[in-house]
Amino acid sequence: MDIHEYQAKEILKDFGVTVPAGGLAYSPEQAAYRAREMGGDKWIVKAQVHAGGRGKAGGVKVCSNDVEIQEAAASMLGKKLVTHQTGPEGKGVYRLYVEAGVPIDREIYLGFVLDRTSQRIMIVASSEGGMDIEEISEKKPESIVRATIDPAVGLVEFQAREIAFKLGIEPALTQHMVRTLMGCFRAFRDRDATMVEINPLVVTTDNRVIALDAKMTFDDNALFRHPQISELRDKSQEDPRESHAADRGLSYVGLDGNIGCIVNGAGLAMATMDTIKLSGGEPANFLDIGGGATPERVGKAFRLVRSDAKVEAILVNIFAGINRCDWVAEGVVQALRDEPIDIPVIVRLSGTNVEEGQKILAESGLPIIRASTLKEAADRAVSAWKGDKANKVEVKAV
Ligand code: ADP
Ligand code: MG
Repeated sequence: MDIHEYQAKEILKDFGVTVPAGGLAYSPEQAAYRAREMGGDKWIVKAQVHAGGRGKAGGVKVCSNDVEIQEAAASMLGKKLVTHQTGPEGKGVYRLYVEAGVPIDREIYLGFVLDRTSQRIMIVASSEGGMDIEEISEKKPESIVRATIDPAVGLVEFQAREIAFKLGIEPALTQHMVRTLMGCFRAFRDRDATMVEINPLVVTTDNRVIALDAKMTFDDNALFRHPQISELRDKSQEDPRESHAADRGLSYVGLDGNIGCIVNGAGLAMATMDTIKLSGGEPANFLDIGGGATPERVGKAFRLVRSDAKVEAILVNIFAGINRCDWVAEGVVQALRDEPIDIPVIVRLSGTNVEEGQKILAESGLPIIRASTLKEAADRAVSAWKGDKANKVEVKAV
């Protein structure tokens, strides 16, 4: 789960990381009020969306008076912000963070991630802040400093000092840098994060080390241990199709094509999407029904995939082990009886109770296209989708 910048800053502050003064605003007037409350002569108005790259996309604006703040706020609120991380549909801006302007001397990149190879928390830092880590590793790979943290002892001071040294932090600021690194590490560990990214962490002209941006992602499977963090979830930032599915215990991934996929297991999902592409189609999404799915669960999955306006054909591809083909068939048939649809439905069943499943499909009298192998299923899905589309265009023309 992702949270907003201001929420991440609040958490990090509790762990001793220095962040600029700031306040949340839901309207231009409130934004100006927040600035007055804070004092100073330079403020930054920042769109709160679950994505980076806001600066280049007009989501971070430097202001020096009330009028500018209100204008900046009005230009962001209620709009969709499109950055290189949001995808073309963008993310809605409903909250703003108004922050005190900080005099920047140097920008540093600082990230904490889970390194799967060493199975440890890893610090990735670079003296080249401001750029994305992807860009840094392309343009200035030699500037990247890495350190893995031993879980038995946690981040130790000498290790933190070494990182500060490698980043070229002045001796007078080393202690502040060490406190920042320690704070981020403890926040990561104690709150079950999977990522903490501060980009940029800045050294100011008046010699302070301040987190100017903050991004935190949490392990969904550990959220039950952190009710206060679960409460920070902001559904306005999620793909509505994905959150709708998650609320029903289904795992759904939205994509850009036209063929909706219902599968069991992530591996089969990947194979199904690859095969659809090989057959000349594009998947619209995939929905994983998991193991032991009842007809009701399959029905829910079917309705969910169908509710996506982009879906122009549905491919159900089940390789049943724990699952039962007859239950899957029942679920599909029931969903189609409850609400008939006019797009092609292709079902490929294999494994446990496959004969019973095929029988249910055949006897349903519904126009379900059946297939026995994955390749056949993908080919039929793509050609049925193309045929159906051509047909509909013809009908419209008449
Ligand atoms: P994003 O990463 O989404 O573009 P950031 O919070 O990193 O957003 O802001 C972009 C840039 O704006 C920063 O690299 C920094 O140069 C500047 N900036 C952000 N917050 C402040 C601040 N409080 N004071 C001064 N400059 C800031
Ligand atoms: Mg940033």
